[in-house]
Amino acid sequence: MKGDKVLRISVTDRCDLRCIYCMPEGGVALVPPAELLTYEEIETVARAALRVGVRKFRITGGEPLARRGLVALVEKLVRLGPDDVALTTNGLLLAEAAGALKAAGLRRVTVSLDTLRPDRFGRITRRAGLDRILTGIEAARKAGLVPLKLNIVVIRGINDDEIADFVRFGERGGLEVRFIELMPTSGLSPECKELGSWRPALFVAGREVRERIERDFGPLRPVAGEDGVAEVYETGGGARIGLITPISDPFCSGCGRLRLGPEGTLKLCLFDRAGIDLRREIRENKAGVDELASLLEDALGRKMTWDRGDLAALSSEMFKIGG
Ligand code: SAM
Repeated sequence: MKGDKVLRISVTDRCDLRCIYCMPEGGVALVPPAELLTYEEIETVARAALRVGVRKFRITGGEPLARRGLVALVEKLVRLGPDDVALTTNGLLLAEAAGALKAAGLRRVTVSLDTLRPDRFGRITRRAGLDRILTGIEAARKAGLVPLKLNIVVIRGINDDEIADFVRFGERGGLEVRFIELMPTSGLSPECKELGSWRPALFVAGREVRERIERDFGPLRPVAGEDGVAEVYETGGGARIGLITPISDPFCSGCGRLRLGPEGTLKLCLFDRAGIDLRREIRENKAGVDELASLLEDALGRKMTWDRGDLAALSSEMFKIGG
């Protein structure tokens, strides 16, 4: 395994947005609160992860800031002494939380934002809040949660005309803008009024994004990425550009990520439909750090030879497992 070992921890399946490609309009059947891993249980899994060489934790969701008391989890994870703890958020609650997150030891945040246009924001997220997110990004910068990263899912005919605007936004604000290929997750179904099912016509490959940026901004200079997932480049104007290409150029061989779902299911990959029920191991089988470490070791071993299969195998519940 080439990439760093990372545990992505999804703390909730709730989200306050309904992005047209992610969570169905009517919401989803949420995991009952008693079935969510508690912060103490997550901490135990994190301890076990450190034992087997994981050095980085990424907190995700759902919308992680929608779970009460998240700062306490950040504190617990930081106290365990990993190399890095970061958070992925839609940014709606970031302005209020940034200072406390920084004080708890969080290093940085990634904000997901697919448009900079107020009229379009409601169409993509089916909710309001662009101003709050922009204020949240500013608050994160002021709090020192840097380097800031922005995740943009590029969808043809919906927001692909904003690629250059995002690059300029990155240049002005000193943040890394990461363009992500659209994956066929459950929000994308025949019932999705806005998009329907995933299909090639909606898809913009990372290569095309790169060509379009080079046409407008000149040649991109490759730079070493830090998480092994994005290919990272720099424009002449100093903007960092990340390209995340799970569809056109899967990065399985470099991927050292394990994913813990809010209900305690450990997945090897977004394409792992079954997963391992760590909540049962903890609550019924009384697994502690030693037992969990051996389950995680086993999972990392299986990742070495993991074949993700075709796109149909994609675990569709991105709103739960957290990207
Ligand atoms: N709420 C947090 C956020 O907004 O970053 C964390 C969870 S969200 C599911 C994590 C990332 O997954 C976001 O950047 C989102 O855009 C991305 N995502 C969700 N569905 C996707 C899809 N079908 N294709 C590509 N990325 C997707």
